Amino acid sequence: FLKGNVIDGKAVAAQIREETAAKVAKLKAQYNRVPGLAVVIVGVRKDSQTYVRMKRKACEEVGIASFGADLLETATQEEVLEVVRGFNENPDVHGILVQLPLPKHLDEQAILGAVSVEKDVDGFHPLNIGRLAMKGREPLFAPCTPLGCIELLDRCGVAIKGKRAVVVGRSNIVGMPAAMLLNKRDATVTICHSATKDMEAIVRQADIIIAAAGQPQLVRGSWVKPGAAIIDVGTNPVDDATKAAGYRLVGDAHFDECKTVAGAITPVPGGVGPMTIAMLLRNTADSGERFLSGKLQA
Ligand code: NDP
Repeated sequence: FLKGNVIDGKAVAAQIREETAAKVAKLKAQYNRVPGLAVVIVGVRKDSQTYVRMKRKACEEVGIASFGADLLETATQEEVLEVVRGFNENPDVHGILVQLPLPKHLDEQAILGAVSVEKDVDGFHPLNIGRLAMKGREPLFAPCTPLGCIELLDRCGVAIKGKRAVVVGRSNIVGMPAAMLLNKRDATVTICHSATKDMEAIVRQADIIIAAAGQPQLVRGSWVKPGAAIIDVGTNPVDDATKAAGYRLVGDAHFDECKTVAGAITPVPGGVGPMTIAMLLRNTADSGERFLSGKLQA
C-alpha cells in the first residue's frame, strides 16, 4: 500500500470493504440474515446529508442492510431519543449512528449516551470510550477515524509497539481516541493541543505522528524525524482559484515538505478520509456477527 513513501488510503479502504463484504456474505449463508446499520440524521446540513448518503451507499455495496431516520431540524430531544430507543430494540439493527453535529437545541451527550453500548458502532458511547482508556478492558467498538489511522499503520508495516507516537489534537472523535488506541498497542504516546509549548521539539521525537488539529499545514518538514510515519487526519479547505470549486483540501501536515523526510505519509485527500467509512462498515459487520452468532442478544 506504499507508493514510494505515500500511503494509499483508498486501496487500504477498498481491501477492508472487500473483507467486510466477504464477512457479510458468510453471515448471510450461515444465518440467512445480514448486519444492519441505522443512521439517524437531524436537520438539513448539506455536509451531514452528504456523509449520510455516502454511508448508506457504502452499506449497500457490502450487503449491510441500511435503516434511516431523517428528522426535521425542529425535532425535540424526546423525538430523537424515541428514534434511538426504537433502533436499540430492533433486532435487525446491529449498529446505530447519530450523525453529528446535532442542532444546537439538542443535548448531544444525552443522545449519544442513549445509544445501546452493544450497537455503538461509532464508538462514542462513554462506556466504550472508558473501556478504551482502561488497562485490561476492551471496548466493543472504537471510533472509526482513529481506528482507520491504526489500520493504515498496520497494513503498511509500520511497527507501533515501543515506538514514540505524538498525536496533535485531543478531540473526542479523533485525537484522544487515537492516543488511547496507540497506548493500547504499547506505543509511548504524547498528546499535543492548543496550549502545548514548543510542539515542534515534541513532534521531532516521534516515530509516528498523527496530525488531527484542523490547522492547514501545521506540521512542517523540519519538525519531522527522518523516517517517521505521518498519518494526516486534517481535512482543511483552502482557497484555490485554479479549482472549479474555488478551493482544495489540504492536511494538517505540509505534504510536500514532510514527504521528503517521512518514511511514510498519508496524502489529503486519499489517505485517512476513505478509511472512516470502511471502519464503520467493519464495526457494523463485527457487531452483526456478535448478535447473529448469539454472543449478544438484541
Ligand atoms: P477539533 O477542532 O474538534 O479538535 C482539534 C484539536 O486540535 C483540539 O484538541 C485542539 O486543541 C487542537 N489544536 C487546534 N489547533 C492547534 C494548534 N495550533 N496546535 C496544537 N493543537 C491544536 O477537530 P477534530 O478532531 O474533529 O478534527 C481534526 C481534523 O481532522 C479536522 O481537519 C477535521 O476536518 C479532520 N477530520 C477528518 C476525518 C476524516 O478524514 N475521516 C474525520 C474527522 C475529522 P484544544 O483541545 O486545546 O482546543
